[in-house]
Amino acid sequence: MVAHARLLHFAAMSQPDRTPTPSNQFSFSRLKAFAQCPLRYRYRYLEGMREAFQTIEAHLGKVVHDVLEWLYLGRSNGGDPGLDEALQRFDERWETRWSDEVAVVRVDDQPEVYVQRGREMVASFCRTVFAVDRSETLALEQRLNARLAPDVMFTGFADRVGKTEGGKLFVVDYKTSAREGDGSDFSEGLQAPLYASCVMERHGGESCLAGYHYLRLGTTRWQEVSRERGQQLRARFLALAREAIVAQEFPARPGPLCAWCGFNRICPEAVVPDHFSGGQTG
Ligand code: SF4
Repeated sequence: MVAHARLLHFAAMSQPDRTPTPSNQFSFSRLKAFAQCPLRYRYRYLEGMREAFQTIEAHLGKVVHDVLEWLYLGRSNGGDPGLDEALQRFDERWETRWSDEVAVVRVDDQPEVYVQRGREMVASFCRTVFAVDRSETLALEQRLNARLAPDVMFTGFADRVGKTEGGKLFVVDYKTSAREGDGSDFSEGLQAPLYASCVMERHGGESCLAGYHYLRLGTTRWQEVSRERGQQLRARFLALAREAIVAQEFPARPGPLCAWCGFNRICPEAVVPDHFSGGQTG
């Protein structure tokens, strides 16, 4: 049965479990948060506050990623996981990962719509990409690190690292968004290519394919990242990290994302229209 909890409790917010991120650890998500709203960045990474809810979109993304990882793990272990089992896995993970902290931000949305969307993504992936994929899996959900400067470490998780049938190294990131990114720094410009740079360091090779697979669209965008290109991207990421490190002020940047921000209850400048208020109480 699909869980229907729509709203959330804010116990975590009233007694926050504060765990600031180590000052030298910079993930792609951390810098993206700084670029989108410095105040949200301060709450989350400097003060170590937990967001009061997880959006249903994030819940869906985690469950779908879990199923894809399970598919490739099964194949790597000599199994032959199929569509029926994958959908069963999706339903089971949807339930077990669900909690009162999952929020349906668009108040008119029903959780069942997201279940259906997730099942469609899994089914489409199984029937197309997974059915014909003969590449070798080297790692799933692999933690990647790169020291960019004595005080700055890049860190992230690659969804899948592998080698093509022709022996070419690749890293792929799965996206559940409705649209492809535009290639700017925080819209698929930096993330996978940076992972590719780290993958080369770990697995060798002079170049690595970096890909985004858009599960809702059924498309994949690849780019080849050389070691030289990897160094350029690391320098770009380091420059962005420096901007966050030297920042003295962290202004709120209210906008459409406020509805999906888990600090919108305590933020003095949050702007959340009524029809997007499912993730906000009080
Ligand atoms: S509610 Fe909006 S302005 Fe406030 S921290 Fe979140 S994203 Fe920033």
